[in-house]
Amino acid sequence: MKKLNLLFQNNKDWVDSKISKDPNYFRTMAEAQDPLYLWIGCADSRVPANEIVGLEPGELFVHRNVANLFPHTDFNCLSVLEYAVDLLKIQHVIVCGHYGCGGVQAAMEDHQLGLVDNWLRNIRDVYARFKEELETIPDQKERHHRLVELNVMQQVLNVCHTTIVQEAWTRGQPLWVHGWVYDLATGRLKDLDCCVSSIDQVESIYRIRFSK
Ligand SMILES: [Zn+2]
Repeated sequence: MKKLNLLFQNNKDWVDSKISKDPNYFRTMAEAQDPLYLWIGCADSRVPANEIVGLEPGELFVHRNVANLFPHTDFNCLSVLEYAVDLLKIQHVIVCGHYGCGGVQAAMEDHQLGLVDNWLRNIRDVYARFKEELETIPDQKERHHRLVELNVMQQVLNVCHTTIVQEAWTRGQPLWVHGWVYDLATGRLKDLDCCVSSIDQVESIYRIRFSK
């Protein structure tokens, strides 16, 4: 059996450094988690959620997939959101895309990749919706950047269209849904200023009235 010694050594070093600062660090961590934030980000290895925002284990609930999508029928996404909102009572959902996203790039091209093409169809839908705006941008890199942003904004709406978020708002639970983009080349986050925090900001066709 091939042992990944480097990773086990890294793990030991990490445990030692945590314990040297706080001998009870892991005992306390094992008792409960109390994160304020849910991060929905891309699986890309260059976008490590906790590190980017300087949060410790226990402070950020994380869901990552290819191109930070939140399809409304995906039970993985929905289960994470339900647990985060209903049980952990997180207050902020952050959908974070990134410039240079391979998933978004692939959705702009026509060659076959495999199963993932069906997943990336969600981004092609965003492209089709904003085709006019996107095709006024002649530079391919800038067009890609804009599609990254539009994709994040669409996923923010998808989160807000769920019964989970709308039911939380209806019962008066404070919940903000944010859209951000991470720039691989600078390490900086950009807020897309598309935050949604109430049912009034949701298009009427997507609003659900809950019976008491
Ligand atoms: Zn990506």
